Amino acid sequence: MADSANDSANDSATGAEIQLTNVTKRYPGSREPAVSDVTLTIPAGKIVILVGPSGCGKTTTMRMINRLIEPSSGTITVGGEDTRKLNPDELRRRIGYAIQQAGLFPHFTVAQNIAVVPGLLGWDRKRVGDRVDEMMDLVGLDPAQFRHRYPRQLSGGQQQRVGVARALAADPPVLLMDEPFGAVDPITRGNLQDELLRLQTELRKTIVFVTHDFDEAVKLGDKIAVLGDRSAVLQYDTPETILANPADDTVAGFVGAGASLKQLTLLRVRDVDYSDTAVTAVGEQESPAELRGRMTAEGRTWALVLDARRRPLRWVHVRDLATTASLATVGRPVGDSVSTQSTLQDALEAILVEGGNAVVTGSRGEYVGTIDITTVTDTIAHIREEHDMGSATS
Ligand code: ADP
Ligand code: MG
Repeated sequence: MADSANDSANDSATGAEIQLTNVTKRYPGSREPAVSDVTLTIPAGKIVILVGPSGCGKTTTMRMINRLIEPSSGTITVGGEDTRKLNPDELRRRIGYAIQQAGLFPHFTVAQNIAVVPGLLGWDRKRVGDRVDEMMDLVGLDPAQFRHRYPRQLSGGQQQRVGVARALAADPPVLLMDEPFGAVDPITRGNLQDELLRLQTELRKTIVFVTHDFDEAVKLGDKIAVLGDRSAVLQYDTPETILANPADDTVAGFVGAGASLKQLTLLRVRDVDYSDTAVTAVGEQESPAELRGRMTAEGRTWALVLDARRRPLRWVHVRDLATTASLATVGRPVGDSVSTQSTLQDALEAILVEGGNAVVTGSRGEYVGTIDITTVTDTIAHIREEHDMGSATS
């Protein structure tokens, strides 16, 4: 789903295809295999979610891809290469791996944690240092502030960001993520999900993401593999298709009630008609008097003050402008905002928090427009109509 609107961008995929063929894992001493005869193709540059109940073999399946667990039988290729023919250490340097609770080394600083794989690859100090800063920027952690901290000095969400930065540091074509956001609160979790989608529009890695949360699967997946016992693939398709047409009763049960309303989490802000003209956007250095003139002429009440990189700072009401000498000292901070990648569900929450227009930002956090409640309610009405028509004819 994440890229159904821009399939042409697939050309720039940097990821590698992963192919599992008749893969089975039998742990020593277990009578039943933990994973039995799984065949699955994970396309290059896509996010594929493995979703299924606890104990169904998701982690085992994922860990066989980077040979943290050796398959008992079957074949796995990454970028067309049989992983058995590669040295496991070398293989793992080509495959980023992020897990729940980040799995950071507690006695290493943030920078040292991120630098682990580049260090193993023998990069020189300068290149490693630059890469650490670049990765921290990428995941939204200020290097100056966080570089020398230890994991225990970070929040859960910040630790997960470091975990993702570390997994990406050597620029691997493949990223494996095993319930990476499972241990953080729901709001942080939503933010990290949005970040991952934003990152992926730039990186186009092949991402295999394990979760037991179907909503997370719907939000993040280009494709979802719904797994049953022993990782049996019950259905492998786009989120839309699985929601609309669950393959069997087991999948339907997993998809859960209210599947049609989950469609809200399938739509993203960039899919709907948000506005780039509803409010006046202005740089912080602009004169309040000039802005006031402009707003009065345009019949505007609210302006949005942006920083030098066009990131939103504060809302200013036109009546505040008469009495101030600088836009740097007026207005109220922007509360919640959404990105073009955010789901309509998230947009709805932001609109409620902001009490009107919610700011929409682009991939660099820059202002691109605003979205209001009418846009969301119109969209919901439209989904309902389509859904009612669908169920009337089926
Ligand atoms: P999931 O990630 O979906 O929760 P796992 O892959 O961790 O599932 O586990 C699948 C099955 O394999 C479970 O029954 C689990 O108990 C078993 N299992 C996992 N790791 C081992 C192991 N090292 N030795 C024996 N059995 C294991
Ligand atoms: Mg697991």
